[in-house]
Amino acid sequence: MKLSFSAEDEQFREEIASWLRENLGGEFEQIRSRGGPGDEHMYPEERKAWERKLAEGGWTCIGWPQEYGGRGASIEQQVIFHEEYARAGGPGRMGHIGEGLTGPTLIAFGSEEQQQRFLPGILAGTEYWCQGYSEPSAGSDLANVKTKARFDEEKGKWLINGQKVWTSNAHESEHCFVIARTDPDSVGHRGLGFFLIEMDQPGIEVRPIEQLTGTCEFNEVFFDDAECGAGDIVGAPGEGWKVAMGLLGYERGVSTLGQQMLFQNELDEIVQIARDNGAARDPALRQRIADAHIGLRIMRYNSMRTLSGGGNDGGLQKEAMIYKLFWATWHRNLGKLAMDVLGPEAEICEGGPYQLGRLQSMYLFSRADTIYGGTNQIQRNIIAERALGMPREPRG
Ligand SMILES: Cc1cc2nc3c(=O)[nH]c(=O)nc-3n(C[C@H](O)[C@H](O)[C@H](O)COP(=O)(O)OP(=O)(O)OC[C@H]3O[C@@H](n4cnc5c(N)ncnc54)[C@H](O)[C@@H]3O)c2cc1C
Repeated sequence: MKLSFSAEDEQFREEIASWLRENLGGEFEQIRSRGGPGDEHMYPEERKAWERKLAEGGWTCIGWPQEYGGRGASIEQQVIFHEEYARAGGPGRMGHIGEGLTGPTLIAFGSEEQQQRFLPGILAGTEYWCQGYSEPSAGSDLANVKTKARFDEEKGKWLINGQKVWTSNAHESEHCFVIARTDPDSVGHRGLGFFLIEMDQPGIEVRPIEQLTGTCEFNEVFFDDAECGAGDIVGAPGEGWKVAMGLLGYERGVSTLGQQMLFQNELDEIVQIARDNGAARDPALRQRIADAHIGLRIMRYNSMRTLSGGGNDGGLQKEAMIYKLFWATWHRNLGKLAMDVLGPEAEICEGGPYQLGRLQSMYLFSRADTIYGGTNQIQRNIIAERALGMPREPRG
């Protein structure tokens, strides 16, 4: 197990830490530590300006290969970046879907023309992406998508019809990647296409969905003859599943590793409250705080174990597959712990309905942690089938 970073990595740490010290102030002071879970609706424009600032400093897309505009940073350096970013109170990243999902997918599967068209906007922090996978009858069972794509010879374009749901930040995005059925008679993972669609067009309607926190981070998205350029399909018609699954590998990969610092900040805040309000004298709460601390250390060690075996090719080991299940469950429990430490105060909204405190928002939003990015049950299937090689569950 690798327990420390190299001297070169530590130098990289100092570089990013000092850049953040110099730049995350002034006009950006107000967005420090904002835009995280349960707070993601706050300051979108200011956070987009921050993305452009990061881009100027060369701090967007650092894990992308240099020939595509990234820094070619190793997994270790990417973890360091996320750690220092969280330590400095960096705001929730508006560009994370483009940087973490669209970019790596286009680099792996996209045509040169697609790479040239779409990567620069992500790198520069000027164009934002959302993920059009889930539908009312296709969540865990993603291969059940019903949205259709038909090529219109006269227009020379794909026409998209159907509905997506839970589309995070659709209202803030210029583009959406969409899985749709290119063969209307197909079922399951065959006959799908992976499309790159412009959001600002008459054929697309975005309707916000209000969440438990009273905010609208995600949306329903309706496609009614929405147009998509002939060249804006990644891979061939019918090959969309391969691309879609490749993308999910990035979602469950390195981009989640650095979040532990954010968790540490939350746990520190809870410990401080417990000390201040006397909750720390309750042995049962003290035990749960200790468990939370231990869980966070385990997350850390598992990340380090993953790092110690993985190469610099961005690939992750089987150990990484336990990460989503572990952190999501841990964080949901942390939300509950926060409420119990706050005691009766947890049930009071300071300024009126939905004027939630940071930990109240975190608690409510953390209920979603065990759902998005693959539910806990689906994570267990992934561990069983892909990491442990157990028999696949029967599929319809
Ligand atoms: C905050 C948030 C943001 C999201 N953002 C996006 C986004 O930007 N884009 C997008 O496309 N989607 C997004 N989603 C949707 C998310 O991917 C789905 O909610 C998730 O995949 C689960 O699908 P579902 O909601 O349809 O639940 P279902 O799949 O209907 O699952 C219902 C229950 O059945 C269980 N279950 C289902 N299948 C199995 C099985 N085979 N074995 C055991 N148990 C099973 C599930 O674990 C769950 O408990 C988001 C969701 C949330 C909560």
